[in-house]
Amino acid sequence: MKALRFYAPEDVRLEDVPEPDCGPDEVKLHVRNCSTCGTDVKIFHNGHQNLTPPRTIGHEIAGEVVEVGAEVNATYGSDWRVGDRAQVIAAVPCGECYECRKGWMAVCANQTSVGYQYDGGFAEYMTVPRQVLKVDGLNRIPDNVGYDEASAAEPFACAINAQELLGIEPGDTVVVFGAGPIGCMHIRIARGVHECGPVYLVDVNAERLKMSAEAVQPEETIDASEVDVVERVMELTGGRGADVVITATAANVTQEQAISMAARNGRISFFGGLPKTNPTITCDSNLVHYRQLHIHGANGSAPEHNKRALEYISTGQVPVKDLITRHIPLDDVLSAFDIVKNGEAIKVTVEP
Ligand SMILES: [Zn+2]
Ligand SMILES: [Zn+2]
Repeated sequence: MKALRFYAPEDVRLEDVPEPDCGPDEVKLHVRNCSTCGTDVKIFHNGHQNLTPPRTIGHEIAGEVVEVGAEVNATYGSDWRVGDRAQVIAAVPCGECYECRKGWMAVCANQTSVGYQYDGGFAEYMTVPRQVLKVDGLNRIPDNVGYDEASAAEPFACAINAQELLGIEPGDTVVVFGAGPIGCMHIRIARGVHECGPVYLVDVNAERLKMSAEAVQPEETIDASEVDVVERVMELTGGRGADVVITATAANVTQEQAISMAARNGRISFFGGLPKTNPTITCDSNLVHYRQLHIHGANGSAPEHNKRALEYISTGQVPVKDLITRHIPLDDVLSAFDIVKNGEAIKVTVEP
């Protein structure tokens, strides 16, 4: 079968490899969709400390069950059968550490990841790691949800995890930095699940801003390369500031701007990580103090968030179909990375 294998930064090869085996306590999938995100581009160029090469990458996975190990259903208390449709979590908690036992699986101290320690989804077939099955991380796809939509459940789950911490209330003003797919999903969740008020979408790429705004229709788009974004948000909110600010980008300055534009009792999600070579920002601590700001981190998602994402897609509360703007065959997977890098599509999905 064909698989996209990471050997070293800038050395990623689409090659012929043997189909993976399926152990007695494992499930084998025919991958139907594996979507791409900025993380794949980062891995392509820089690798990742937890990624052991050579490795099949790809972590936003949906597929059809083609083999169920003889001991699977007895071992995990599941009911998997050949032909079932399934979505795979990407961040895999251990289920046993202090954090997992507290129910904070997104910050499991022993977290591993599909496509890092285990072979991922840019391949015709993959074996679902037993560590995934152990924490109930293989999820049934509802009948009315496509494989392409289901593959977007993973990034969607990360956004759900982040927003859970923000306590968004009906009518809250929300600013989202970053007009990529995840920024779009944040807007849809803030509205569809939390019934927020006006949403302002910020980016420095005018074309991407326009493309995403057409899909998710924010009340206003702000091109931060053209205008002072803090000033504009203050104007739009009558000087009060934004109740909720989400930075879905890796740009340090957006975190500083988020603090400057937050309203009293404002809640901020530092959703996107910063470059590891430059992870610091300047923070006016008195703003945080006197305005009673709440600044939250966000680290991936828990299996439960993936289940909820599939449910929101199924009920139509948070549609994702129209955000998947490019479908690309596995043979052209490397071109998908360029499309993601250049921001030419909202979400790109690969179809083995
Ligand atoms: Zn991703
Ligand atoms: Zn754990």
